[in-house]
Amino acid sequence: MKVLLIGSGGREHALAWKLAQSPLMEAFYAAPGNPGIAEHAALVALDVDDHGAVIAFCREKAIDFVVVGPEAPLVAGLADVLRAAGIAVFGPSAAAAQLEGSKGFTKDLCARFDIPTGAYQRFNNAPKAKAYVRAEGAPIVIKADGLAAGKGVTVAMTLDEALAAIDDCFEGAFGSAGAEVVVEAFLDGEEASFFCLCDGKHALPLATAQDHKRVGDGDTGPNTGGMGAYSPAPVMTPEMVERTMKEIIEPTMRGMAEMGTPFSGVFFAGLMITAKGPELIEYNVRFGDPECQVLMMRLKSDLLPLLYATATGTLDQVSAEWIDDPALTVVLASKGYPGAYDKNTPIEVMPAETAGAKIFHAGTAVKDGKLVATGGRVLNATATGKTVAEAQARAYALVDQVTWENGFCRRDIGWRAIAREKN
Ligand code: AMP
Repeated sequence: MKVLLIGSGGREHALAWKLAQSPLMEAFYAAPGNPGIAEHAALVALDVDDHGAVIAFCREKAIDFVVVGPEAPLVAGLADVLRAAGIAVFGPSAAAAQLEGSKGFTKDLCARFDIPTGAYQRFNNAPKAKAYVRAEGAPIVIKADGLAAGKGVTVAMTLDEALAAIDDCFEGAFGSAGAEVVVEAFLDGEEASFFCLCDGKHALPLATAQDHKRVGDGDTGPNTGGMGAYSPAPVMTPEMVERTMKEIIEPTMRGMAEMGTPFSGVFFAGLMITAKGPELIEYNVRFGDPECQVLMMRLKSDLLPLLYATATGTLDQVSAEWIDDPALTVVLASKGYPGAYDKNTPIEVMPAETAGAKIFHAGTAVKDGKLVATGGRVLNATATGKTVAEAQARAYALVDQVTWENGFCRRDIGWRAIAREKN
């Protein structure tokens, strides 16, 4: 099979690493890719917003299958134009990508198909939103409707915080994403991420993970895109997985088909495991970053047929096998992240891959023959172990072999799961 992978982050490096191991792979390209992905695929300088250019490239190279990593090209309709051109693609249509692109869309779907989630209201002006919040009281959650790079959510513990968050949204803090606001009941419990492939008619559960969103040790400081993750999530017992499939994933799949927007791709469900069971916080329509890195380290099966079956409606004919060992990833970020940081700082030493221990590139480039950091989140030190504690020790052993003056990481990734292991 001739494959084109779209994206340039740590998630795409993990996908590229795994896809490249497939015996079915005949030719492998990535656009735009990164220096880590370049070890597995030929990099192509394509502008992925230029759909015509992507299709022309696919025709020129006789590409059989396109795998889209990030959400932005999906929301922009890249999967639709590829499908219309007769090219198989892993990733949902723009209409189905609204599950991630519009929180209001997802909440309405939950209400219509009886999917457990927090009670909510949608608003397009501040006075009405504020009146609702005053009536409901704190804690309460304020969300910009659209894509806001993970920053449009305020979990307000006080009424004042909630009112300020409403003003922020309507005053343009999140651009057009905040033109509509969803106000949602606060859910109390433990969070987990659940990944499941879906071809529109069949769903194949993959694995679970937990991430660390805050920049500082002990889960303190501002939110980030994610500073580390581990898989599986101990809170996702077989019973919780079964309930999630039955109560959340399957009704979503049926509901999307019934509304004429069948979903094809990966459901990344953000869950809150409350006293009542799993409740949906949000859907993403692509693999998590850095959750994908730990999933790929644990996946025993060939990834390529799984993604291709998703794209071609044959998920009922494949299965996914996992190693039992947990995997853990630590994000190395540029000092200053998630605020301002210097770019093009040199990364002098990088450890080689060993069995079950690998560094994925997330925000790097090669300049004048040298590896430099170009992003906020730059490297993902990822390892497996017999326990989460062992996976953590191996991941930090990788971190300690990196020489990068301008980098930092959290030192406690996995702390909750490790505390559980000790009990
Ligand atoms: P989201 O972008 O919707 O995943 O929200 C970001 C984070 O806000 C989530 O990972 C949760 O930690 C938190 N959050 C979102 N919605 C709720 C809710 N209804 N109750 C409690 N916490 C929430």
